[in-house]
Amino acid sequence: MDCSGCGASCCKNLVKERGDLEIGLFLLVHEKKKLTELAAEKGLGVEIQPLHYLETSWNEQKILTYQMINKDCEFLEGKTNKCTIYKDRPLVCRSYPIQCKLPNTDVEIDLDCKNTSEIPRVSKKFGIETISGKEEAEQNNRELFRSLNLEEEYQAYLKLRNIWFNMLTEYGRVGEATLHVYDHTRQELFPFIVLQNGEWLHRKIVEER
Ligand code: SF4
Ligand code: SF4
Repeated sequence: MDCSGCGASCCKNLVKERGDLEIGLFLLVHEKKKLTELAAEKGLGVEIQPLHYLETSWNEQKILTYQMINKDCEFLEGKTNKCTIYKDRPLVCRSYPIQCKLPNTDVEIDLDCKNTSEIPRVSKKFGIETISGKEEAEQNNRELFRSLNLEEEYQAYLKLRNIWFNMLTEYGRVGEATLHVYDHTRQELFPFIVLQNGEWLHRKIVEER
């Protein structure tokens, strides 16, 4: 993807509004560990907090994912706008501008990226909001992203989505569990999804409050 002249806007203002919540840069557990080590080596003040918690019916809590909540990414080199941990960058950076709307897994494209200026026109035709898991939609998305030269990004999105899906299903299978999303700006946990034996029931946050 050609990022020349953009000023790395995707690596700045990392905390974004998602529905009612403000969420930082999404990190899987192993990514959080790696980025914490790299930040320590480089002497950077990286701030990471939990994002998704799973609470089982026997009150066991498990942190599933984390969020980096620095305003701008500390790993971005200011003068050159280059990522200083490029080979270790998280999956969410690799898939950008294609994004998962977690905790759902719908495909979303960040239209703030200058490389997406052509996408709205094309997406109207394909409907990028198509739900994952439906073969026809998957095929359409694959063709769409190939035609936009975003095949690598789409592969990263699929990997991230599968890790997420497997994680939820694995814990959901053991019984009943509730997924919470942590909004660090309000220091609150919001119940979001109830899992029952591998099936999940979506609950709108607004209905919970
Ligand atoms: S991916 Fe998009 S927003 Fe990020 S640096 Fe490239 S053009 Fe800019
Ligand atoms: S890790 Fe690298 S690619 Fe990801 S937000 Fe930070 S600077 Fe950008």
